[in-house]
Amino acid sequence: MNLPEMFGENVFNDSVQKDTLPSEVYKALRATIDAGKQLDVSIAGAVASAMKKWAISKGATHYTHWFQPLTGLAAEKHDSFIEPEGDRVIMRLTGKSLIIGESDASSFPSGGSRATYMARGYTAWDPTSPAFVKEGTLYIPTIFVSYTGETLDNKAPLLRSMTALDKQAKRILKIFGIECKKVFTQVGPEQEYFLISEEEYYKRKDLVLTGRTLFGAPVTRGQELEDHYFGTLKPKIGDFMRDLDRELWSYGVLSKTKHNEVAPAQHEMAPVFSTSNIAVDGNMLTMDVMKKVAHKHGLACLLHEKPFRGINGSGKHNNWSMSTEKGLNLLNPGDSPETNTLFKLVLAAVVKAIDEYQGALRASIASAGNDHRLGADEAPPAIMSVYLGDQLGAIVDSIVKGESYTAAKAEKGGIGVPESPIFPKDATDRNRTSPFAFTGNKFEFRMLGSQANVSDANICLNTIVADAFSEFADELEGKKDVEKAVNAIVTRELKKHYRIIFNHDGYGPAWEPEAAKRGLLNNKNTADAVPVLYEEKNIEVFVRQGVYTRAEAIARADIRLENYTKIINIEALTMIEMVKRDVIPCVSDFIAELCQNAASKQSLGVNIPCRTEMKLIERLAELNDKASDAVEKLEADLKQIDKEDVKSASSAMAHVIIPDMEAVRACVDEMETLTSADYWPYPTYYDLLYSVK
Ligand code: ADP
Ligand code: MG
Repeated sequence: MNLPEMFGENVFNDSVQKDTLPSEVYKALRATIDAGKQLDVSIAGAVASAMKKWAISKGATHYTHWFQPLTGLAAEKHDSFIEPEGDRVIMRLTGKSLIIGESDASSFPSGGSRATYMARGYTAWDPTSPAFVKEGTLYIPTIFVSYTGETLDNKAPLLRSMTALDKQAKRILKIFGIECKKVFTQVGPEQEYFLISEEEYYKRKDLVLTGRTLFGAPVTRGQELEDHYFGTLKPKIGDFMRDLDRELWSYGVLSKTKHNEVAPAQHEMAPVFSTSNIAVDGNMLTMDVMKKVAHKHGLACLLHEKPFRGINGSGKHNNWSMSTEKGLNLLNPGDSPETNTLFKLVLAAVVKAIDEYQGALRASIASAGNDHRLGADEAPPAIMSVYLGDQLGAIVDSIVKGESYTAAKAEKGGIGVPESPIFPKDATDRNRTSPFAFTGNKFEFRMLGSQANVSDANICLNTIVADAFSEFADELEGKKDVEKAVNAIVTRELKKHYRIIFNHDGYGPAWEPEAAKRGLLNNKNTADAVPVLYEEKNIEVFVRQGVYTRAEAIARADIRLENYTKIINIEALTMIEMVKRDVIPCVSDFIAELCQNAASKQSLGVNIPCRTEMKLIERLAELNDKASDAVEKLEADLKQIDKEDVKSASSAMAHVIIPDMEAVRACVDEMETLTSADYWPYPTYYDLLYSVK
């Protein structure tokens, strides 16, 4: 394989555009992509025709507008290129079909922002993310809006948030005398996932219907030996990863790093970072391709945040930065950050944004699946904080305390191996327990769930930082002594928002009470986290930055709660069915066999001990009754919930239904450890986690 040659072979990328488009058209398209100039619609016909010709040469017969509705998944509807001409057909893609498509909006979540009778929705081309051919179809990345112009997807607001940040960041740069065409936000999303045998997967209704196991006694060997992380790859996994890379590269996804993760059967893929909307599209594509490639290898790829209890779940670290088209990274501290005024101002803006909108940012990553990870000492806590590391932490401390800062000399890190080169210690150590950590020239937002569309988090991040920039720019524009004014802002804001900075262990028991003392929010589940989005200031910031209208902001919060409620409802119903139809009957059969064995021993007349059978019969019968009672309570509580009222319904799901489900699970998991393997109706954690060779 000639990797540089095959990379992006299925993408209508810059070089293909250059080769296939008339030069005027190419230039106009680039102006839209590079400088954010409004798309010149008159070029659409020429682009469509070149794109179609190229796609056909790649084996495409269909095209689709590819969009990201608020289901969190990608959506596609395939149309063939054919158009009748006499008794034959020709292949056609018009400029109009490239730039606009019609789609029934009433079947996608809208949070009530659009009445169902106004079912018309439009998809519109996003020329900044390149089209590609996959499985015989030309995929055209698009945004999705309603007839009345409300956004119905994740991409339109992401693009708006990028525009907002671009605009405000350029104002800041201008104050420092730096001119540029565009400030881009960039994202590198690290994707964690599980691979298990597909055969075993289809034997578990809970995995198929909810993405996670609703039961499962812990396996005797979990992750305690710490031997899976970075361990050698099993042959089947290695084959999968090779195929995955091959496919991702062909679609222009910069798959860079692959390795085993902490939990058994858990793995990770990290791409090289790219412009936010391209990174999001790439990540959506990655999740889809992972599932399909897994199937080819007889595997099931689990993207749920917590497929198994007792071992780590999966997240998606969102590495985030801002950079001009010339490559000036706004988060690059340089050699002496203490005197780098621009960097300090940018840092102060980020710290201010995260503190002021900690609730909104926490809500942006809230989901039923992610609730299992946050605060469980495997992922950051549900409390937002910022980690700066030793060097930046000391600089900020000195600013806040008004002390002078002396740079600590980089320590020579002698390792006692004379053959090895001596390396100086890094300025920032790693802190894996922080939700939002500075890592050299970017922030790593670590709270995202593995199956999330990372748009949500980035929409929020871009918007709140843009807002902080705009406040600073308002204050600084027209000031004579910029240096002095900037330093005053930096000191004031870092003092004001100092409470959000936490450079220590986020998993330790000390942090929760300390965070409470600092007045930081600690919303542990989605039902409690999302309602902050209805607060006036959390609506206003999106409206002010032109990212959401008021109606859109409220609709998004509604959809989040509605979606959470639906997921817990499905989980509860699945659990009820599994217990009633499979677990209780199987355990009952096993009890019957034990009774028969005991009875036949006793029927011999001599005194043969039956203690084992009797003890098991007693415990299992008791647990089976308890399970049955717990299921009845769950069913009854579920019926009580008024699902029309999203706020009360989601709260009841979190505070009533989830504890009910816990009670059911406790009985079932104990019964699993006592029931003969021959009787147990489902593959166990051992079967699921250790059966891939
Ligand atoms: P770390 O070792 O700190 O996790 P890596 O260099 O391995 O950092 O990068 C992790 C992820 O961060 C990768 O996806 C990488 O492309 C991305 N990344 C690196 N630099 C940046 C940046 N400036 N902006 C956004 N993402 C970045
Ligand atoms: Mg990382």
